Amino acid sequence: MALDASVKTSPDFPIPETMKAWVLGDPDQLTLTEKPVPSPKRAEVLVRIDAVAICATDLEIIHNGPPAMIQGGAPFNKNFTPGHEYMGTVVALGEGVDEYTIGDRVTVEIHAGCGQCKRCRQGMYTSCHNYGLNYGDRNKGHRANGFTTDGGFAEYAVNNINTLVHVPDDMSDEEATLVVTAGTAMYGLTELGGLVAGESVVVTGPGPIGLLGVAVAKALGAQPVILTGTRDNRLEMGKKLGADHTINVRNENAVERVREIMGGKGVDYVVECSGASNAVNEAAQMVNRGGRICLAAFPHEAVPVDVAYLVRNNIYVYGIRGEGKSATHRAAAFMEQKRFDATLIHTHTFPMGDLETALKYARERIEDAIKVVVKNDHAVSQRAEAAE
Ligand SMILES: [Zn+2]
Ligand SMILES: [Zn+2]
Repeated sequence: MALDASVKTSPDFPIPETMKAWVLGDPDQLTLTEKPVPSPKRAEVLVRIDAVAICATDLEIIHNGPPAMIQGGAPFNKNFTPGHEYMGTVVALGEGVDEYTIGDRVTVEIHAGCGQCKRCRQGMYTSCHNYGLNYGDRNKGHRANGFTTDGGFAEYAVNNINTLVHVPDDMSDEEATLVVTAGTAMYGLTELGGLVAGESVVVTGPGPIGLLGVAVAKALGAQPVILTGTRDNRLEMGKKLGADHTINVRNENAVERVREIMGGKGVDYVVECSGASNAVNEAAQMVNRGGRICLAAFPHEAVPVDVAYLVRNNIYVYGIRGEGKSATHRAAAFMEQKRFDATLIHTHTFPMGDLETALKYARERIEDAIKVVVKNDHAVSQRAEAAE
């Protein structure tokens, strides 16, 4: 397929007709194939993908299917390309786009809402009521790249301009892939949670969202910021990112220790990133009366929750799914100002052709992998030129 006639391109970035793309067949089966380069429509650009970070959700999608949903069903054997935490270079502009210029470095958020449902009209496009409706005769234009539409384990992807964030020159490709993770933490803390400076925060679970949750909470002026987890090296990293206290739950009772640090009262806010089966009950014991609990992870099974305790203590509980309300732009601003060093959580880089090795490192946490990034050859060679 060639690009639509209305698409603007530049001789600096010649665009081939086809590209290399990883495609999901049966569960756990990825194949490197050739696909047509997609053409950006109105309010969309074509992004040449330079780097992609692997997320636990990618592993989930490739192995189990959900939360990816292609043409209303499981993502298997539908010529679907996963990958959602990517960054790259704008190389073609769809009709009406003047917000971005060809050659701009950008990182992306995942969701472009339909723009016409109740939630999109409230700015809550990650809760779009037309989620996944982007095909056939029910095409509402919703996109969640790497979930309901093609993602980043490829050479090019189409993105709505609402999903783009400018990347400053001095930010590496690898760091730029982490903006959306920091944006997810930002969304949970401020847009949904209403965190203001001076409030106290516990983050449970030092995965990528938890660690950047610590960093963003600290940069927002939270005090104290407490991180709980099971591995000392991750907790150490949490300290470097701004945690005032860390608690290894293998050695200490986290609830008791939090209440001790807080003089018996508990914190204003818990961001739950562990997905442990008793996490909601423990978080409830960690917050003070009227406190808030943000659920950013979940156990696979349904779990019992002490609802009476939540009710008696006026505790607010809410789930977040990914980024929202353009919080990625605010997280990117923190990173541009170097308010925290997100690159601490980037541990490995592989060429895109070695995606399977990269996924294995992420899945099995080989060499204590946290964020594993894959890069396309053009980005790697460009980097070498820049270094000379
Ligand atoms: Zn992700
Ligand atoms: Zn919508």
